[in-house]
Amino acid sequence: MGAKSILTEAKQIETAVELIRLGARLQVLESETDLSYERLLRLYKEVAGKSPSKGQLPFSTDWFMTWQPNIHASLFLNIHEYLNKVAELDEIDTVIKAYKLYLEQVNAQEIEPQLSVTRAWRLVKFIDNGMLSMTKCSKCGGHFVTHPHEIARHYVCGLCNPPARAGKGRAAGGLRLAGNEDVAAHAH
Ligand SMILES: [Zn+2]
Repeated sequence: MGAKSILTEAKQIETAVELIRLGARLQVLESETDLSYERLLRLYKEVAGKSPSKGQLPFSTDWFMTWQPNIHASLFLNIHEYLNKVAELDEIDTVIKAYKLYLEQVNAQEIEPQLSVTRAWRLVKFIDNGMLSMTKCSKCGGHFVTHPHEIARHYVCGLCNPPARAGKGRAAGGLRLAGNEDVAAHAH
């Protein structure tokens, strides 16, 4: 909480606008800024040109464990972890920047993004509170989103072991996890 109080109001508005542009739910803005609900609502309508959708945020970790979403979530999280190490950004700015880089990566591979910015934000929370973790694939060595305490020695990722129905071709199976070099090239 300390980090957000030192953000100036202007910076908070900038962050809120950026999140709205990326399609974030209102709850994300409420959580990440000190701006009032009424103010955020006005801002949302102004920037998005419509009222925010109502309803609960996705609270379950299950979505991240399904095949294609897991690969997308892992791609995002690899970028996020990398930025966390090399860039000194506020937490929410790291999420925003990592999410933009994620979009660049999937667009470059002509794949539909499956991870929303709200889910990406949520994922970082799940990692922070230990409800999800990252495990290294025993075959390809890539790091993937898993339940905590996954046994790395036996773990095989969704790219190395796609479900039978996936078939060949590009779908999400064609999605390559960015190496740190790729991310570094885009991060600056
Ligand atoms: Zn693998």
